[in-house]
Amino acid sequence: HKVFLNGKIVPSADANISVFDRGFIFGDGLYEVMARIGGNYFYREAHLNRLRRGLKEIAIDFDVAVFEEHIPELLRVSDLEDKDSLLYMQVSRGAAPRQHSFPANVPPTAMMYAWEKSLPEIEPRHAHAVIKEEFRWSRCDIKSTSLLGNVMANQWASSQDAYETVFYRDGIVTEASHSNIFFVRDGVVYTHPANNHILWGITRQVVVELCETMGIPLKEEAIALSQITAMDEAFLTGTSTQIMALKTLGNHEYFASEPGPVTRKLQEGFLELKIRDSQAG
Ligand code: PLP
Repeated sequence: HKVFLNGKIVPSADANISVFDRGFIFGDGLYEVMARIGGNYFYREAHLNRLRRGLKEIAIDFDVAVFEEHIPELLRVSDLEDKDSLLYMQVSRGAAPRQHSFPANVPPTAMMYAWEKSLPEIEPRHAHAVIKEEFRWSRCDIKSTSLLGNVMANQWASSQDAYETVFYRDGIVTEASHSNIFFVRDGVVYTHPANNHILWGITRQVVVELCETMGIPLKEEAIALSQITAMDEAFLTGTSTQIMALKTLGNHEYFASEPGPVTRKLQEGFLELKIRDSQAG
């Protein structure tokens, strides 16, 4: 792998970061992942804006334009110019003697790399998800590299051959360990409002907008845990999850063989958006 680190693109073996880096010590950093499809990054500005907002929220002084400037070269040296790929970007608060509060005048550590990945046109996978009470923090809107809660939750899912763990907080379904969740009932789509209890997923936002353009009624309203068995359909969204139908959530099964009609309609609409975007620009 070639990686971008603090202004230079180098082989990953030569990319050295201090052991005192606050990303390593505290998980004091942010990350972003975006998909390059047919030569364009899908919802690039939305991803970069989320990163900008996060940096502002946690007061890291880094200009996202630095990443943007180096993306073409990174793709070139990674031999990814004509391949679909994913891009990972991370900014930490940099290396400083260990103290919890923010150090002064420390340059942030910025890293990114890309790898070949072509996402299926329409997500053919059906997810099984397990349910767990929220045990992460209350700033899930910050895309922090402190992902221990998410990692533990996903491992818990994995140990039960499930794709995801879906969280609930105070009896309300919020999101999953690395994806957002939607429900459908009587033709109406529901998803948790964008507040501090969920990550404001870009794919979530794409689906919200897709509902509007496709004339599918949508409410940004949370669903109670007690209501999940009353829902007709459920699906997960994420950059690499795309729109993934939920076959089961806990003990409840949403479908036997084929996902419900609204999920499939949105998957079709999502595919058209990807095709449109990959041909733009
Ligand atoms: N929720 C969490 C906790 C995530 O980590 C992610 C993606 O990494 C998402 C939701 C989905 O976000 P996006 O659609 O921007 O990939």
